Amino acid sequence: MSETAFINGKFLPLAEASVSIEDRGFQFGDGVYEVIRTYGGRPFNLDAHLARLNRSAEAIGLRQPYALEQWRDSIAEGLRLAAFSESKIYVQITRGVAPRDHAYAPQLEPTVVMTVRELHPLPAAVQAAGVEAMTVDDVRWGRCDVKSINLLPNVLARQQAKHAGVFEAILVRNGEVTEGSVSNVVIVQHRTLITAPQGPRILSGVTREVVLGLARQEGLDVQERYPSQAQLYAASEVFLTGTTVEVLGVVRVDGKPIGRGEPGPVTLSLAKRFLEQTR
Ligand code: PMP
Repeated sequence: MSETAFINGKFLPLAEASVSIEDRGFQFGDGVYEVIRTYGGRPFNLDAHLARLNRSAEAIGLRQPYALEQWRDSIAEGLRLAAFSESKIYVQITRGVAPRDHAYAPQLEPTVVMTVRELHPLPAAVQAAGVEAMTVDDVRWGRCDVKSINLLPNVLARQQAKHAGVFEAILVRNGEVTEGSVSNVVIVQHRTLITAPQGPRILSGVTREVVLGLARQEGLDVQERYPSQAQLYAASEVFLTGTTVEVLGVVRVDGKPIGRGEPGPVTLSLAKRFLEQTR
């Protein structure tokens, strides 16, 4: 088993992989990415991730260098070479290497990078106990639907959370909850789920989509509108969704307990159904 990298079509050990310091990803954050995880060794919801990668690339006018089939083959090969029982796959496309200039030439060759590392899931005890979160001002740009490698506001928000000893930063813009720094946020009011709508203010999560589908199947009322910060504090339950967090209960926000201060029945039931879905 070994951490594996892929650069522009070639596989090599991760420790030996490097790109030019003139890569526009390095200099400008001019690129897009995806994070995919495996269950039972197979990538989960790969086509949804690849579709979002295409949308992100298109949104920034970046030529997507590979067809879907090439992505599927390369990811399968990366998984085979790395040979972990469960893997986390990181895929990134940047606009390519050029002398530093904000504007770019249209014919640049994109840089494609992939890494395959061992997946370390959240400990079962953390899943069971739920996590704490804090609210942080959402100062991001107007295209959060693009999965851009420009993550500075998310980095600073998550660091603030880490410094405060809590798991996630819940981003709030003008009193409305958008999403987490690395997750989508859903609030529960008894049998109603409220979560920010798809659109430029959030990254539309692959996990969010699956979980909202499961919730509708369970007969829960799903409302896609921004929860207010007051509704966040007053929720009977709050949970996060995301590739790495799966369905994760939030039991305290800004030091205030949510509901009974433990993952609630709706969260637990959706977490269980989500897990079944991944098998
Ligand atoms: N929002 C943000 C800002 C994220 O970084 C992530 C993780 N990729 C998500 C939401 C959840 O998306 P997904 O379920 O596709 O992992």
